[in-house]
Amino acid sequence: MKGTLHLVRAFGIDIAVHWSFLLLIAWIVYRSATIGVGMVATGVAIVFVLTIFACVVLHELGHALTAKAFGIGTRHITILPIGGVAALERIPTQPGQEFLITIAGPAVNVVIAAGLIGGVWLLGDLAMPETTYSAAGTGFFLSLGVVNVALAVFNMLPAFPMDGGRVLRAVLAIWLEYARATAIAAGCGQLMAVAFAAWALWGGNPFLLLIAAFVFFGSKAEVAAARQRAVLTRQRVGVAMQTDIHALPFDAAVGEAAQIMFEGRQHDFPVFDAEGGLVGLLRREAIVEGMRSRGPDAPIRERIETDLPVLDENDDLAHALEMLRTHGPALAVMHRGRLVGLLSQEQLGRFLMLGGVPGR
Ligand SMILES: [Zn+2]
Repeated sequence: MKGTLHLVRAFGIDIAVHWSFLLLIAWIVYRSATIGVGMVATGVAIVFVLTIFACVVLHELGHALTAKAFGIGTRHITILPIGGVAALERIPTQPGQEFLITIAGPAVNVVIAAGLIGGVWLLGDLAMPETTYSAAGTGFFLSLGVVNVALAVFNMLPAFPMDGGRVLRAVLAIWLEYARATAIAAGCGQLMAVAFAAWALWGGNPFLLLIAAFVFFGSKAEVAAARQRAVLTRQRVGVAMQTDIHALPFDAAVGEAAQIMFEGRQHDFPVFDAEGGLVGLLRREAIVEGMRSRGPDAPIRERIETDLPVLDENDDLAHALEMLRTHGPALAVMHRGRLVGLLSQEQLGRFLMLGGVPGR
């Protein structure tokens, strides 16, 4: 994500903080100065907020590691002043998986809260001066425990893109079509966003206003994504793929592919062996690299990408898009052992943009 500072890499996931997080720190310093709580209390307030955001990171790791258990990777975790975002590589196709991945986040906060409150009860608490965040008399760990309860409750509000919205959708999807379930959950989210905004303006809380905007536009994005997925699920690879394609023999030279690529007709080429079996794909980058380093006579042989999955012309486009996102910009389409076409992300984009194939 743009404008972020990379912090650490944990479980193979990059964790970063957005620059706007500094605004939150600045706000605490400003508030502390206006209330006049002094340097120590300001420092404690900042440490307190940093500890809360450590809990937010753990919450996001709850999502990411549960997703990992279902074979779904996480591109990165970003911490914003209004909470965290775990960018999953794909949305799970089964509502049950989405439910578990979603519920794992707030569950982490519940566990932390139980640990802290239990610990304070057994061992006592650390005294905290009166800060922007706490009144005198509340200890550090109890306050943190209470914040974790609040985080769990707040995230479970049924408003996209917060966890509660996803849980509501997963539950509705038991009875309803996915797109319909999303629309209802999103409508609920937008109502809540309006309520947040009203509350924010009433109480003069700028962060709540930010959250309201985040929820409002997040809900709209979820509806668009679900609609696109519904369209993709109904269509087959066979209607969207490119059929007029060039395939190359195993012993061809890079120049042959470069010529066709130059004419703008095709960027990725299926490659066959002498028996007519599909070996793999020659990709755009491999052609460019071959032309640059060794010229048009360079053999394509050592530049072929093998071990790639193939699509079937009867696969639905939602599945195809997932495969393209994981395995690269284009994949060969086979049917009954025969190459019938090529599907690229670019081609799929054209298909969606035009709302189908003209004249077909
Ligand atoms: Zn969450």
